[in-house]
Amino acid sequence: MEYVSTRGEAPAVSAAQAILRGLAPDGGLYVPNQWPTLHLDLKTIGQQSYQDLAVEIFAAFLPDFTKAEIQAVVQAAYGSQWDTDKIVPIKDAGNNLYYLELFHGPTLAFKDIALQALPHLVMTAAKKEGLNKEIAILTATSGDTGTAAMAGFADVPGTKIAVLYPQVGVSDIQRQQMVSEPGKNTYVYGIEGNFDDAQQAVKGLLGDSNFATFLKEEDIQISSANSINIGRLVPQIVYYFYGYGQLVESGQIKPGEEIDVLVPTGNFGNMLAAYYASQIGLPVADFTVASNENHVLTELFQTGVYNKNRDFKVTNAPAMDILVSSNLERLLYFAGGQDADLIKKDMADLQSQGSYHLAEKTRAGLMKFSAGWTDQDQVEETIRKTFVASGYLIDPHTAVAVHQYQDDGHPTLLAATASPYKFPQTVLAALGEEVIGGEGGLTALAAATKTTIPDQVKNLFQRPIRHQTFIQAADIQRQIESALKTD
Ligand SMILES: *Cc1c(COP(=O)(O)O)cnc(C)c1O
Repeated sequence: MEYVSTRGEAPAVSAAQAILRGLAPDGGLYVPNQWPTLHLDLKTIGQQSYQDLAVEIFAAFLPDFTKAEIQAVVQAAYGSQWDTDKIVPIKDAGNNLYYLELFHGPTLAFKDIALQALPHLVMTAAKKEGLNKEIAILTATSGDTGTAAMAGFADVPGTKIAVLYPQVGVSDIQRQQMVSEPGKNTYVYGIEGNFDDAQQAVKGLLGDSNFATFLKEEDIQISSANSINIGRLVPQIVYYFYGYGQLVESGQIKPGEEIDVLVPTGNFGNMLAAYYASQIGLPVADFTVASNENHVLTELFQTGVYNKNRDFKVTNAPAMDILVSSNLERLLYFAGGQDADLIKKDMADLQSQGSYHLAEKTRAGLMKFSAGWTDQDQVEETIRKTFVASGYLIDPHTAVAVHQYQDDGHPTLLAATASPYKFPQTVLAALGEEVIGGEGGLTALAAATKTTIPDQVKNLFQRPIRHQTFIQAADIQRQIESALKTD
């Protein structure tokens, strides 16, 4: 198995090369040229540890990595930095609904699952490729990627990581996690504008020829921590199987029985991982894509038209505030029968006019997908209702998905993507409590709900502030270059 570009104009590469590059040189995304065959026994996967299951799935998608290399990555990624041995526990919500809790890692959001593994995948890949350069990670974040990427790369020798976050949209906890990040190789910049502006700035820099010359002179290899990197997708496939195994173990489903998957979606990485899982043997009947008020994807799945020509909304589920959902390209590639010319045309239309129409055959390949969106008031109402009905506290992103849930008879795995303690202000507002900013929000939430503040954020506001740089768009290149130059 090798990795090829969705746009068909780049040579096939090994998994190690795909991880190091992030994006393919023709602008496409790397996808497997065939689905690996796994011999996962759905009857017994629930008896395996998360780590053992991860080793099997990583090995299938990274055929050029040795078993020992994969074991080392998995061991480093899924150890004592998680607050539960299960890594992703399940909560039965009744009515055939099960929360797959993906937020038990160091930064309390699901991105830890991939970003605790990615640095080790990148460093192993570099070693395999004989690369001796320093590796720099440049990432735009709406809040969760930046915190999780820094937690993963902090003090990893041979790497530096720079994160750009937008002034508007990040929560108090996310901001504090970033500006107090202690890793000596981490650099954090606030920039004016929203997430798309931050993303635009990073893309602009990566496409700039002066910056390319700088990297060459300084002998630096740039890589990506965004979910376009297959090194982020592969780790996410694991938890869908692990969740399924838990349902079998507890007698909720029979081995082989179909389930539904419901995912709050932004850049489409999480949902894509569920689709990949289904391609290698996870029995999934329906995929439901839940969006917030930036509902480009709802429209796509309902009408076959992708149209990003609309206002960007800053919402109370900020990690899903996005108008260009990168990983969708990978789904469309497979749905349309691996037709790279078609993808190239659609992406050219997106570039030139901000929209494209799916071909009939691609729509036909998306029959198992449905979509819906949840507005900000519904998010708050869902948080409140869920808590009142069951005492279970959910975060705003999870609420976007919960609001879309309908019991169709299939057991449903719902991706619970963040801890409510990552967004205490929104959760307090939803519960009708006084909204308190900063650290006070944590204690107020604990008092109002009789739940406990997770250890991961308990002392967050005692950490010294290390990054206070706010920069103008015009100054980004100079700042990043000077950060990458320092020893
Ligand atoms: C990133 C994120 C999402 C969106 O996930 P994608 O893989 O980008 O679709 C949803 N919820 C939370 C809490 C996130 O951090």
